[in-house]
Amino acid sequence: MNSVYKKLSSCARHLLASAALVLVMAPVGAQVQTRPDTNSTTPVVRRIAITIDDLPFETRRLKLADEQRATKAILSALQAHKVKALGFVNEDRLLVKGEVDARIGMLESWLDAGMELGNHNFGHLGFHGSSLAKYQEAVLRGDTFTRWLLQERKQVPRYYRFPHNQTGDNAEVQKQFEDFLQQHDYKIAPFTIEHDDFTYARVYEDAVLKNRKEDAERLRKAYLANLDRAVNTFETMSDEMFGRQVSHILNIHASLLNADMLDKMLSKLEQRGYQFITLEEALQDPAYLLPAGPSRQYGMSWLARWARMAKKRLSVYGQPDPEEWIMKWDQELAR
Ligand SMILES: [Zn+2]
Repeated sequence: MNSVYKKLSSCARHLLASAALVLVMAPVGAQVQTRPDTNSTTPVVRRIAITIDDLPFETRRLKLADEQRATKAILSALQAHKVKALGFVNEDRLLVKGEVDARIGMLESWLDAGMELGNHNFGHLGFHGSSLAKYQEAVLRGDTFTRWLLQERKQVPRYYRFPHNQTGDNAEVQKQFEDFLQQHDYKIAPFTIEHDDFTYARVYEDAVLKNRKEDAERLRKAYLANLDRAVNTFETMSDEMFGRQVSHILNIHASLLNADMLDKMLSKLEQRGYQFITLEEALQDPAYLLPAGPSRQYGMSWLARWARMAKKRLSVYGQPDPEEWIMKWDQELAR
């Protein structure tokens, strides 16, 4: 076992060195990508994988039937845009008395729709402040039903997504955990683009449950505009870090807001020149071989992590905050 890992790690180091060289050596003039707004006659191809966290559903305030309807809407939007998304499961969310079968059925509907499922651990446990042993237990406990469902389709869970995007408090524990994942045939699922969808989603759900229709409409508009601002920011980071657009990975959550908005979001990404790819395809981009470093408490986009590790200064480091009225509403809900 040990020698295999040694070989793998030396191979990974070699690939990493080559990748870093290629990335550094890529001359600016070789870039074929242009911004869609500067050259409207040439179609610009950008690539993005869609990943959706907190399955079967993020909220605990909706009724099962509403969650099932929302799941259908998310899957219809993905299928309409021919997206093969990766859904990350928290199996503790299955354990609601009288609803376990139905919730497993929700996971099954993802597989029936052609999506893949990954592990987001049992209990949505953050790495920051957890012991390694306790954290590893949450991972192993996190794929019981998922593994069973995948087995029926001759598949196994392949990807792990860190809750809160916390990848470890220091380099040593990070390395120990990455070795553990490798031993269990898991690959890390990073992401490059996020846009605070969970904040908008909490407030939106509140607006819908209280039948505040005008606010719900305002939120839908604000949310879509926020996606544009966030994508602009992460594209700038990718340009500044690599001189090109990496194969991006979007991180969103299984929420009522995304059930209502995903079709429009995917159309917006298409208008920006994006083609949808799988997580597996995105990870073939050599950028993902670069070291990302431990996150400690705050889990940032991999673009910010790569920049920090490479000691490269960027002009921006993440998406702009949601509008003040939305932040305020969200804080009131948290009280
Ligand atoms: Zn999560």
